[in-house]
Amino acid sequence: MIWNESSECMRPDEMRDLQNKRLRTTVERVYHNSTFYRSRMQEMGVSPMDIETIDDLVKLPFTVKTDLRDQYPFGLFSAPMSEIVRLHASSGTTGKPIVAGYTRKDLGTWSEVMARTFAAGGCSRNDIFQIAYGYGLFTGGLGAHYGAEMLGASVIPISAGNTEKQIQLMTDFGSTALCCTPSYALYLAEAIQEMGVRDKLKLRCGFFGAEPWTEEMRREIENKLKIKAFDIFGLTEIIGPGVAYDCEAQSGMHINEDHFLPEIINPQTLQPVAPGEIGELVFTTITKEGMPVIRYRTKDLTSLTYETCSCGRTSVRMHKIMGRSDDMLIIRGVNVFPSQIESVLLEFGEAAPHYHIFVDRANNTDTFEVHVEVRPENFSDDLSSMLNLRKRIEARIQSVVGIHAQVKLVEPRSIERSTGKAKRVTDNRKLY
Ligand code: AMP
Ligand code: ZN
Repeated sequence: MIWNESSECMRPDEMRDLQNKRLRTTVERVYHNSTFYRSRMQEMGVSPMDIETIDDLVKLPFTVKTDLRDQYPFGLFSAPMSEIVRLHASSGTTGKPIVAGYTRKDLGTWSEVMARTFAAGGCSRNDIFQIAYGYGLFTGGLGAHYGAEMLGASVIPISAGNTEKQIQLMTDFGSTALCCTPSYALYLAEAIQEMGVRDKLKLRCGFFGAEPWTEEMRREIENKLKIKAFDIFGLTEIIGPGVAYDCEAQSGMHINEDHFLPEIINPQTLQPVAPGEIGELVFTTITKEGMPVIRYRTKDLTSLTYETCSCGRTSVRMHKIMGRSDDMLIIRGVNVFPSQIESVLLEFGEAAPHYHIFVDRANNTDTFEVHVEVRPENFSDDLSSMLNLRKRIEARIQSVVGIHAQVKLVEPRSIERSTGKAKRVTDNRKLY
């Protein structure tokens, strides 16, 4: 089966023609099927007729995370629910998640871009894929699953966690490719080292993403597991994993630009940056039906290169993600905004809205600690009342953010005050 008949090695003019055509179709689609995009475009005085080529992208409005939140759950869909065959979601800035809907064709596109990702890492139908990304609303598990199946590989849908079982099946089934977050890969690597079973494994490569990781971390995973580690990038709003992927050259991720048009803008001026400069990554989907997005601001910082790669692929490449232009943290795979913590603390009369978040990594797992100031009138030596307050805050953070934070109550006025922009986060993980 030829599943990657298009794109990866197209001549630039062929690619541009394809992108122009697909962009026009997408703009028509959102204009006629999404009230949100039609009114946005009307506000800007743009109609589908104004969009002929990808150079006209700049005439179109941006989309941001809060638009998706405001349109919760299905307001950004451009297909009727009868055509939506899958829903996924990712945590957003408030309790409400960001929702994505896929038509059957979208699921086919997604499988295709993931199959490309795996093929670029040298995998084929002869591989055995252990999918240790979480299955469920998160896009990682099912995204990788269908891609590996389309490739024709054998798929083990084990999902995340249960490390002992992971290693047992990896040994018994002879898994050759591993898909999970880079932090879990490192955790598995250390467990495998401790158990002394590396020589029993057939593992050759891994596809790791969904959170930032450095080149140093890549080398560590490669050395510990004796495999080749590929970076894969994606986000729920665009499709999930499979937006961009490493090839064997590991010199920037190839973007599936026949489906996702990238731009880099200056996050302050919102203007395109000069070629090769670092800025905020923006994507327009040009083949999606269920939930196409126009000029979606990812807040991820990177740069693009249009030079042909040494692997022969002509598609544009993005540098490893270098940071974010907002304050979103990804802790144990969950998106966390400091503002969520602040709003939780404001619910508690005993806590002052002064807090500091500490994130670190121990034993390849993220640690998440929140120091919270207690109001002077509520601060007491009564340990049981302090313990009770701490437990209540922890429970509330868990329910709003979705993961456990260790709360430490601190004395009134002990958290440093700021005269300018408050620094509320210390992230010692060195992820970029
Ligand atoms: P989600 O939609 O919840 O899966 O989160 C998507 C976000 O995860 C992206 O916007 C990035 O900030 C981050 N992300 C995903 N893949 C990578 C990667 N390979 N490297 C760095 N950050 C990533
Ligand atoms: Zn390449």
